Amino acid sequence: MKRRLALFLLAAIALAAAPPPSHIPVDDPSDPRLRLQPGEVAIESIAHSCFRIHSAGARLLIDPFASRMWLGYDFPPTLAADAVFITHPHYDHDADASSGMRPVPWTPAVRVLRDPGSYKVGDITITGIRGKHADPWGKEFGQTNTIWLFEVAGLRIVHVGDNGPLTEPNVRALGRVDILMLPIDAKHHILEDSEVEAIRKALHPRILIPMHYRLPDLESAADKPEGLGEIGPWLAGQQNVIQLDDNIATFTAGSLLPAQVIAVFPHSPRVHR
Ligand SMILES: [Zn+2]
Repeated sequence: MKRRLALFLLAAIALAAAPPPSHIPVDDPSDPRLRLQPGEVAIESIAHSCFRIHSAGARLLIDPFASRMWLGYDFPPTLAADAVFITHPHYDHDADASSGMRPVPWTPAVRVLRDPGSYKVGDITITGIRGKHADPWGKEFGQTNTIWLFEVAGLRIVHVGDNGPLTEPNVRALGRVDILMLPIDAKHHILEDSEVEAIRKALHPRILIPMHYRLPDLESAADKPEGLGEIGPWLAGQQNVIQLDDNIATFTAGSLLPAQVIAVFPHSPRVHR
């Protein structure tokens, strides 16, 4: 019996000491920015429309892009997630859309959710709302686009993917929005400026996070990606703009300012050209 226990302990120690297999994504567990208390939510910008939402009980990955397809940069291969949420099957939002041509950045055990519905992952409640991809794109898959609402720690965080103008039912289904991730760029790839304003007016987010714009330091050619503008020209006409130094920011329900703030995240240092 003693020998069996000793063997078991030896095996357990060997397992604990073994490095994780290289295909399993890992994060640095000592990163203090990601050690959260209940009531805190961290939003981590990866690049383009890809973010992770971290809470005390879950890590969710939204719209992971395929490496070097249209966008000129690589998806970081070591991002852990408890579940992946995808708005629509374009490869700048769904690394899996290229069906095996590129390795996906999560393990097969991780749930990948694409369809409208209600979900729960750890302490985060998620609602997928049926939307419509902005014109003229996405006709090859019926212009489906799932708008994701994440509720955690008293905050309501919305990622619209590449949705076009919101319908009345969309706005009603979303209800109060605290933090909104919205595609905005100077070439109006997804939304016209007037459409951006209409969505801001309908949802009144306390924090607006622009996404889906050209990242000049990650692109190798001035004319790439085709048709995608930068964010600077739009920001120049805005008030209450905060340029964050860090790609991870922590929020609590009590910390939001009454006025709308535009929070501009840098991309993750883990993304490379
Ligand atoms: Zn897109």
